[in-house]
Amino acid sequence: MDIYAPPCDPRYSVAGSGAALTPKQRELIALAESHGPRFAARAARYDSEASFPFENYAELKAAGLLGLCVPAAHGGHGADFRTYALISATLGKYCGATALTLNMHMCSMLWPGALADDLDMTPADRSQHESYRAVHFARVVKDGAIYAQPFSEGSAAAAGKAPFGTTAAKVAGGWLINGKKIFASLSGAADYYGVLCTEDKPERSMRDTLYIAVPGRAPGLTVVGDWDPLGMRGTVSRNLVFKDVFVPDDAQMMPRGVYFQAASRWPHMFTTLSPTYMGIAIAAVEFTVKYLRGEIEGMPPVKRRMYPTKQIALAEMWVKLEQTRALFLRMLEDARIDPPKDARLRAYAAQFTIMENANALCALAIRTCGGQSMLKSLPLERLYRDSRCGALMLPWTAELCLDRIGREALYEPGEADD
Ligand SMILES: Cc1cc2nc3c(=O)[nH]c(=O)nc-3n(C[C@H](O)[C@H](O)[C@H](O)COP(=O)(O)OP(=O)(O)OC[C@H]3O[C@@H](n4cnc5c(N)ncnc54)[C@H](O)[C@@H]3O)c2cc1C
Repeated sequence: MDIYAPPCDPRYSVAGSGAALTPKQRELIALAESHGPRFAARAARYDSEASFPFENYAELKAAGLLGLCVPAAHGGHGADFRTYALISATLGKYCGATALTLNMHMCSMLWPGALADDLDMTPADRSQHESYRAVHFARVVKDGAIYAQPFSEGSAAAAGKAPFGTTAAKVAGGWLINGKKIFASLSGAADYYGVLCTEDKPERSMRDTLYIAVPGRAPGLTVVGDWDPLGMRGTVSRNLVFKDVFVPDDAQMMPRGVYFQAASRWPHMFTTLSPTYMGIAIAAVEFTVKYLRGEIEGMPPVKRRMYPTKQIALAEMWVKLEQTRALFLRMLEDARIDPPKDARLRAYAAQFTIMENANALCALAIRTCGGQSMLKSLPLERLYRDSRCGALMLPWTAELCLDRIGREALYEPGEADD
């Protein structure tokens, strides 16, 4: 059954025609597509100003899409990992910064929601988690609250190799947060920051990671630093400083020890940045086809499709896109708790491929279309700059994916270094 809804051409829909999708997935993809043209029209302004896409978020809120990954029992759409990834990639075609920032919000719902349902908890933890997450879900569904996910600190922590330096000390009725986060997308725009931190106690390990939502207006929280990067400029990923920030107990987004369990047992949770870049890759190829056909709005209708070199270049791009998309869609099928080793290795390979190929496709698009295509008046140069960021994003940078594949393909769990 076809999934695309007009006006999206199935060649440029994320799953393509013939994909086995549920009616709900088709409906949500069509809804995301319907916002696309307006998001695309605003993208250049957010990029040039390095400003947050507030108008796009207002639209998402009005459409009920902020609750996409909130479980249905809590009033959301109950989108699972796969459904979310398809929507994210769809939005990524139109505005990379909107899709990437929305990822931080969506994961803040997906991890305490559908993912946490798969994890082991004591009955007491499960019951406490139910009551705490109800608070977070209600804020999103009823008030349209936006959640960010600042993890990075400029240390080995965001790569999953050391405990976070930001700490949470248990005090009466809540937690006291201290520390600093860098690259906090949605800084200044989020209503809550879902902070990964380490419980403040004498012996700290990654098992002591806590996941706690800090209100954007909490006393002691400040947004600092500039934001003038190469790409993904609309993400406004500035730094956060926490100085004795008090949050109540129900700010916890997962019980003690559960984030560590999730990171170990649900590895696909770290692939959720890649759908944005899958969308960018599709957009670069769609742009190239339209450009070579002389169909770009605002450009003279000059055709370049008759040159054999252009046809071959486009064919090579198409092959690369389909390779990337096939691996992306396969990875979505694999995602589950405790995936077998082949699925885990494929997840690394998919993340690597999407991030690297998105940038390669944008570079090929500029070379193939030619000089006029990289003018600021057209979206291609922004796609190119945005696509450059994907491979840099922790914890699964392109480099770290290769590290993990090499190590895990050659060693079985528990085997010592030679
Ligand atoms: C547009 C954008 C938005 C972002 N938004 C967010 C956000 O919302 N929340 C958030 O938490 N972060 C966010 N980040 C941060 C991102 O996930 C990375 O943390 C950041 O790019 C890392 O930069 P760094 O120079 O500090 O990396 P470093 O930690 O200095 O690492 C540099 C490189 O070295 C490699 N490396 C790092 N650690 C190891 C290791 N232990 N072993 C081997 N190799 C290693 C990696 O390949 C890495 O790319 C964002 C980044 C960008 C570009």
